[in-house]
Amino acid sequence: MPAKLISIEEARTRVLTEAAALPSETIALSEALGSVLAEDIIASHNVPPFNNSGMDGYAVRASDTVEATPDSPVRLPISDTLPAGHVAAHGLQPGEAIRIMTGAPLPDGADTVVQSELTSEDDGYLVLVEPVKRGKNIRRAGEDVATGDRVLSAGMPLGPAEIGVLASLGHAHLLVHRRPRVAIISTGSELVEVDQPLGPGQIRNSNSYSLRAQCLQLGIAAAAFGIVPDDYEATRTAIEAGLDYDVLLTSGGVSVGRFDFVKDVQDELGVERRLWGVAMKPGKPLAFGVRGGTLVFGLPGNPVSAMVSFELFVRPALLRLMGYRKTTRPQYQAIIEEDVANPDGRTYVVRVRAWREDGTWHVSSTGAQGSGILRSMVGANGLAFIPGGPRGVRAGDEVEFLLLREDLEEP
Ligand code: AMP
Ligand code: MG
Repeated sequence: MPAKLISIEEARTRVLTEAAALPSETIALSEALGSVLAEDIIASHNVPPFNNSGMDGYAVRASDTVEATPDSPVRLPISDTLPAGHVAAHGLQPGEAIRIMTGAPLPDGADTVVQSELTSEDDGYLVLVEPVKRGKNIRRAGEDVATGDRVLSAGMPLGPAEIGVLASLGHAHLLVHRRPRVAIISTGSELVEVDQPLGPGQIRNSNSYSLRAQCLQLGIAAAAFGIVPDDYEATRTAIEAGLDYDVLLTSGGVSVGRFDFVKDVQDELGVERRLWGVAMKPGKPLAFGVRGGTLVFGLPGNPVSAMVSFELFVRPALLRLMGYRKTTRPQYQAIIEEDVANPDGRTYVVRVRAWREDGTWHVSSTGAQGSGILRSMVGANGLAFIPGGPRGVRAGDEVEFLLLREDLEEP
């Protein structure tokens, strides 16, 4: 370990300095969720493309209805029926009505649609007991998007609404920043795969799965290279293969143990180290560097450390490579519910349950916080940052926390 560990913020800055948006590529619209647009989108036509009915009802001329009263209803002969997708064969003649469904093009001559609920039919006639207001229930061509509008701009992340707008404008393909290709390697001679029985001294490889899931949440299907034993040659072969990717994540083997080879292998393969050791717990050992266009993260092996390091350093980098300008999760102040001691100098990253009460966030530890205790991540929707120092924090103090999830029920 170096004499001076760097802060979480400094480490993240060093990582992001190396991460620029990847070049653009054309992808299918159906694959675009979560990608960042690399072109401006100018509408080549109106949406909707034509005036159409906003209701199921009757297309009329408002002037034909002005005399209508309950005592003396107006009766208009119904000359046609227009389902959506059909264009009227002839226009609306004065004194007539045309039955029209939502989305059907407004026939020439009509200026208003009166909704079915306000009418009755009698023997082929539309019966109105009150006048209708001119222009009612008509969706004008271009009222959503007008030809020539810049609807989306380069740099925008694509969510469901943006994708819907692109579909309505006929963009089956679009230019986005390429998603990073990510490789995951789990080092450790004690590891076995999830479907294998445990022999003496063995544990299951959970990091490949949790890290891959963290990537999948960003829409990145990482290649999991599986388990590499703590052997220098095996580690070198695996890491060398991983350097073909945009991002290489290894877990384990990055501390100062006798069989921790990841840093030495990184050095031998020409990975230029940008940081080593962060003033946090869990997650102190982190060997980050670059080789060519590859970002190389040597993550700690402890399951919580690996996940927390991913959250704080890898996730922002992946987002930046994808073209996101905003790479951080929401961070808030919260009242902490219990005392937390943190006598050493490192920031203590505590897995918490966070909830809001009368507009104020509260956080409470999810339980035992050892870096190997993955259960503390289960049910955690936040990471709270406890500064180092003799006092620690006391119940009722304010702390900063990162909101990780929105899918958990209130406690
Ligand atoms: P290391 O950083 O390699 O010293 O690993 C630290 C701790 O994390 C050890 O107890 C390992 O057994 C454990 N560990 C390392 N890799 C994994 C993994 N892929 N899945 C689960 N636990 C792991
Ligand atoms: Mg190990």
